[in-house]
Amino acid sequence: MKVLVTGGCGFIGSALIRHIIRHSTAQVVNVDKLTYAATPEALEDCSSNGRYVHEQADIADEAAMERVFAIHKPDGVIHLAAESHVDRSIDGPGIFVTTNVLGTYTVLNRSLAHWKGLSGDAGRHFRFHHVSTDEVYGSLSETDPAFSEQTPYSPRSPYSASKAASDHLVQAWHETYGLPMVMTNCSNNYGLWQFPEKLIPVIILNAVQGKELPVYGAGDNIRDWLHVEDHAVALWQVFRQGRNGEKYNIGGNAERRNIDVVHTICDILDEIGATPGSGSCRDQIKFVTDRPGHDHRYAIDSGKIRRELHWTPSYTFERGLEETVAWYLHNQKWWQDIHARKYDGKRLGASV
Ligand code: NAD
Repeated sequence: MKVLVTGGCGFIGSALIRHIIRHSTAQVVNVDKLTYAATPEALEDCSSNGRYVHEQADIADEAAMERVFAIHKPDGVIHLAAESHVDRSIDGPGIFVTTNVLGTYTVLNRSLAHWKGLSGDAGRHFRFHHVSTDEVYGSLSETDPAFSEQTPYSPRSPYSASKAASDHLVQAWHETYGLPMVMTNCSNNYGLWQFPEKLIPVIILNAVQGKELPVYGAGDNIRDWLHVEDHAVALWQVFRQGRNGEKYNIGGNAERRNIDVVHTICDILDEIGATPGSGSCRDQIKFVTDRPGHDHRYAIDSGKIRRELHWTPSYTFERGLEETVAWYLHNQKWWQDIHARKYDGKRLGASV
């Protein structure tokens, strides 16, 4: 089997490709433009493997996509490439529309043309797997039931609106043109190789450098945390075994308030003495002006994937977080190089 993965140099895409290369005999074509968020280092183990190839291309570039599909003739597509940072979408929504909406349209159209040219088993087994987010469902109160696959869409940020638009396109290409598809909507991921602009790495790295730990509002926003390696297992399972036309929510069964996540990181760092000050690292916490339209709570009901595919997360949040903290402490060169480059000078906000 040859699977085309878009956005494979990103945080989740790289975990997925490492999982596929380690645990299957499939070949992987990774289409990634290498934006500021790409981490090709996360695929160093795969790059010497004959079953892996990287194509540097923009998913919104029709000619490039046509070329990639013509050369590689994939048996399926797992589409992850996206602009993924909510704060950036508020500062500059245009690229989110270009990549997440137009880019998805381009990959979808190319997949449809390719699928129409397949016959027999190849056509029957082809899948377009769209990787989306729980943020498309909007914001919950503390007492609302968790998001199910039937929850109506109510995106509230430019990022989640662009992802919702892409979900609707994929659903429409299935209903209208018959393109075989599956879709997954997952909660907040964490783990190794997460770009240091998202909440967990920002807190770890600021803490060990003796900097302030910025927390939006009162820190009472609630997210459900999913370890990226559990997510990779779920994606590979849905791609191969998910029912055509179906959507699956994926969550880590770990709802936490942001301030509790920050406290737990501080406690881990205090315990191992990894911060420069003599007091608790909790003293470095600084509450900052909230993000506009900040969704209060996301919670995922992942009963469907558990029932149908028997997937369940293997990490508890506490074990995953301890391992993640240890990983960032042992991989300082990677994040120090990113900090030194300051990519395009954007602040490192505590965003999720
Ligand atoms: P990421 O920002 O870490 O990586 C995105 C990757 O896509 C990068 O390697 C980048 O170079 C590539 N890319 C961006 N624009 C591209 C373009 N125009 N053409 C080709 N490649 C391009 O993102 P991530 O956190 O790994 O998220 C992957 C997917 O999962 C996204 O679709 C995101 O919406 C979704 N998701 C992420 C989370 C999360 O917690 N990180 C949660 C839910 C859903």
